[in-house]
Amino acid sequence: MGEMNKLSTYTWTPDSDKMIRISKSTLDTYSNWCSQQMWLSKVCHTEPLERDYLVIGDNVHNRQEEFYENLVCDTPRMEQAIAAAKDGDEKKAYSLLKQMYPEAEGEYADKEEVLQDWMIHNDVARLKHCNEPEDFLPTGNELDLDAIVEVDVPEHGIVKVHLRGIIDRIFKDDTGGLILMELKTGKFNPKYTPPKMRGEMAYYTYLLDESDVNLGDVKWWAWRFPNAEHWDVIPAAKRTITAMKKRIVRLVKSYLEQDFPVVNDNQEYKCSHCDFMQFCPKWTPYENPIEVSHGAEPIWKEVNE
Ligand code: SF4
Repeated sequence: MGEMNKLSTYTWTPDSDKMIRISKSTLDTYSNWCSQQMWLSKVCHTEPLERDYLVIGDNVHNRQEEFYENLVCDTPRMEQAIAAAKDGDEKKAYSLLKQMYPEAEGEYADKEEVLQDWMIHNDVARLKHCNEPEDFLPTGNELDLDAIVEVDVPEHGIVKVHLRGIIDRIFKDDTGGLILMELKTGKFNPKYTPPKMRGEMAYYTYLLDESDVNLGDVKWWAWRFPNAEHWDVIPAAKRTITAMKKRIVRLVKSYLEQDFPVVNDNQEYKCSHCDFMQFCPKWTPYENPIEVSHGAEPIWKEVNE
């Protein structure tokens, strides 16, 4: 996992002998939130804050992965579950799946249980469309991927970049086409979430295509939001992948020019959600906030009268 990380870095500067590393998250933060925040999140060393939604997200992801691993090893159970779902006995199908789901434990177990239950009900709905266990089980389960791509950056030329990421789940449709499926434990906003998800899935499609893993062609993008009891399956769209690649070009250009703009004045609401305000050139009084955080003498910004 992450074997190629030694060849690349998120904190790339022009004197680095490594490649620029890009993930779905860095591209998303850079393109859809604040490019300076993306940079600061990589170069500033802050103590990670324990946030309940992050713990819940990790736990639910880990148990979902284990759930499918458990089912892969139990073909008779899968066959019974499919038969029960097709017979309309959802209670039995639910029970058969639930027994293979690792029990939620820890501080947020109650909340996690609710999300897990929705996921199992959603999988019972999927069972009804399956004939064999292979129709139901993922062909990729938390698939960890790397790819080296060449990015043509205006005014700079070709740059080799390391893309990496983990695809939650990959299923196959009845023609062998791939369905990439993400699990999200956060909120679902009907206006903002679908475009964001399309961008993420475009990144994963490109990553999978450029990696050395050959599973087939991606035909569908899907996501499940158990907190919102919402899921979607949409056709993969080439134009979204093209748009995503243009964002990669802009991100690489920012690295090459070490130019990570702060948000505009009309987007300052984002700063109130930012963990890096004390390092941010938009707000800090120092020229060297990161060095100051490590004990250096401050260099004060000049104030224009
Ligand atoms: S404080 Fe605002 S401008 Fe600065 S990094 Fe954070 S979100 Fe971006």
